[in-house]
Amino acid sequence: MRKLSSLSLVIPVYNERETLAYLRAELERWLPSLEDMTTEILLVDDGSTDGSLPILSRWAAEDSRIKVISFSRNFGHQAAVSAGLQHAVGDAVVIIDADLQDPLDVIPDMIALYEDGYDVAYGQRMARHGETRFKLVTAWLFYRIMRLWVHKGLPVDTGDFRLISRQCVDCINSMPEAHRFLRGMVAWAGFPQVAVPYARAERRFGETKYPLYKMLRFAWVAITSFSTVPLKIVTAAGGIFSLLGLGAGIYALASHVTGHTVPGWTSLMGFNALMGGLVLMGLGLIGEYVGKIYEEVKGRPLYVVQRTINISRE
Ligand code: UDP
Ligand code: MG
Repeated sequence: MRKLSSLSLVIPVYNERETLAYLRAELERWLPSLEDMTTEILLVDDGSTDGSLPILSRWAAEDSRIKVISFSRNFGHQAAVSAGLQHAVGDAVVIIDADLQDPLDVIPDMIALYEDGYDVAYGQRMARHGETRFKLVTAWLFYRIMRLWVHKGLPVDTGDFRLISRQCVDCINSMPEAHRFLRGMVAWAGFPQVAVPYARAERRFGETKYPLYKMLRFAWVAITSFSTVPLKIVTAAGGIFSLLGLGAGIYALASHVTGHTVPGWTSLMGFNALMGGLVLMGLGLIGEYVGKIYEEVKGRPLYVVQRTINISRE
């Protein structure tokens, strides 16, 4: 059995002014329970514009365990978490949202599993309170499709709330891809993982920073950055329609030979329109992947840090 002696918490913060007091109070309550463990709390300010950063800076001035990384603008949740992982120094890192919908009190269970030898202990939502039926249904579908398409090892009903060992964090940090789907990357890395069931609470303060369009974008990045199945589907559809086309061709020829070729305008139009649509869709999809390659090739950094507080190493 190994013992965890240092833990990093990575908390992405984007316009969370309303939640911050609650977050701080909960941290103050919970941290002493870790007893002799060295802890650091990495708050990654993802370009907040609501005055979250000055609050975080004040905390960091009061407590050297609190560290702040501040982005020059909003780069998105996955970039913020990636920055946290890259700056964390603990032997294990826990990723947790600033709104504490995922409770701190689950973390000791994760630590226990780490000490049992698991490298990844992910929170699995048994219940989700205060979410719309739409979000529940789409999330349910999302995780099933992702398992089918992206990675069989991707656990269902699991967000980024998890504990990751140093070895696995280093592995994630060595993956330079610009389009990041961290849960998939952790599953891909393949270290021993285990679920920690918990009930996800309602967001108490402030509003979700994941409106529908961001969720859809996230799902799209997840699918296209991890899988070429959509391209294969287009290829398969192309194959099927080629066969159908061949059949239609033979039929047309036979009709010509037997001498009745006048009717058929409707079916021709229909078929044409369908093919046009399919071809365009295929092109668009390939364009998506080409665009992704373009962005990867540019090799830009994942995020731009404007300022750090209480972080000494480069
Ligand atoms: N977040 C972020 N950048 C963004 C959007 C969200 O850093 O562009 C952070 C946000 O501050 C929170 C976490 O990501 O700590 C999860 O966001 P939220 O709670 O709004 O998502 P939900 O729980 O509704 O899916
Ligand atoms: Mg939330």
